[in-house]
Amino acid sequence: MNENDTERMLAFLKDHRYRPTDTPDRADLILINTCSIRDKAEQKVYSTAGRYKRLKRNNPELVIGISGCVAQQKGGELLKRMPYVDIVVGTHNIHRLTELLKRVREEKTQVVSTELYGSIESGEFPTPEVDGVKAYVSCMRGCDNYCTYCIVPYVRGREVSRPHRDVIEDIRRLADRGIKEVTLLGQNVNSYCGDVSFPELLRMVCRVDGIERVRFLTSHPKDISEELIYLFGEEEKLARSMHLPIQAGSDRVLERMKRRYTVKEYLKKVSLFRRLYRDVSISTDMIVGFPGETEEDFRETMEVVRTVGFDSIFSFKYSPRPGTEAATYTDQLPEDVKQRRLEELQATQREITIRRNRLLVGRRMKVLVEGESKLDRTELTGRTTCNRIVNFPGDKGLTGSMVDVTIRVAYANSLRGEL
Ligand code: SAH
Ligand code: SF4
Repeated sequence: MNENDTERMLAFLKDHRYRPTDTPDRADLILINTCSIRDKAEQKVYSTAGRYKRLKRNNPELVIGISGCVAQQKGGELLKRMPYVDIVVGTHNIHRLTELLKRVREEKTQVVSTELYGSIESGEFPTPEVDGVKAYVSCMRGCDNYCTYCIVPYVRGREVSRPHRDVIEDIRRLADRGIKEVTLLGQNVNSYCGDVSFPELLRMVCRVDGIERVRFLTSHPKDISEELIYLFGEEEKLARSMHLPIQAGSDRVLERMKRRYTVKEYLKKVSLFRRLYRDVSISTDMIVGFPGETEEDFRETMEVVRTVGFDSIFSFKYSPRPGTEAATYTDQLPEDVKQRRLEELQATQREITIRRNRLLVGRRMKVLVEGESKLDRTELTGRTTCNRIVNFPGDKGLTGSMVDVTIRVAYANSLRGEL
């Protein structure tokens, strides 16, 4: 989501002749795009901004801006804490960026733009500025779910979907630039509520010439319909992987999180997927140490982890976020309990991931080649339909094509194969 916001900023700035640079000390503008999902991400903002402050001494014309969720959440407070910051631009105001920059330069003033809007203005979502073979395209923004731990609804606003024509138009343009894989993005992408249904939107995306693979992120378990599950059997371009955050394996915790599904309902959907599609990979997000999570609740989570056998898990220690309901719960857990549970979950998952990766050894899989491997320039890197990274020897001229690779070795985070 944040990467996509960065690409949108690049698209707006490009029209005003800005170009990205790798050398901050030569930059005219430094934008720090921020995340506030957990406290650690928020704290990083202050240390990062502090590092850039000194650059203003050599270059008084340098403009420093803070964008994204921390900007949205803190607004003008950031200017008090960091008086050397010039621009604070919230999550719904990215399209104002160049106008704000102009004001800073001409009026020599600091500016804050953090209004949240109930609808999407035209031009707010330019075609993202990307190169390579894959791109993210937002089809909705915001969230109305108010899970009790989560800050997203407060910093990203209400759930609004883009008209399907705009989304398809973006994807056509990206396909014209050589993009082969698109990921439809939204906080709850499968709750898409535009002028067509989400499965219909996916069907249309699969029809765009030049696009060879389609993914979507992130899905809310309560809104996974059978129609969506069966679509994977009809649309060959739809990648066989699903990120489906469960968050916890105990119904009592899920209820206090206000997730609106039970473990049983979740398992039913996952087992239908696995039954229908041999190669599908299921990944998830988990929070450990939610307020009041007992040892018994945590055991239930571990049980679900073993039962499902997730291909991968993004796991986090619960982090209280200002303004959210769960931050006011009085049964917060100590840090050492959260840490121990996180380590146990991650150790178990590591074994499961390797075991699941090993099942692929000897199989021949379609891989979309993304380019040279960063670790070894003689190798190529790409991803399988089930979203595994595969490295294999090959010519970089194959970048952007779909090739058959036989998997030879499985590691924890990647596979090795040969053409
Ligand atoms: N919309 C998606 C997730 C968005 S946030 C969904 O509903 O699943 C990405 C992930 O961050 C969440 O899935 C959750 O696991 C984690 N997360 C959100 N708030 C958190 C908090 N306060 N502490 C720890 N992890 C959190
Ligand atoms: Fe946060 Fe819940 Fe919305 Fe996901 S669904 S963004 S976890 S409030």
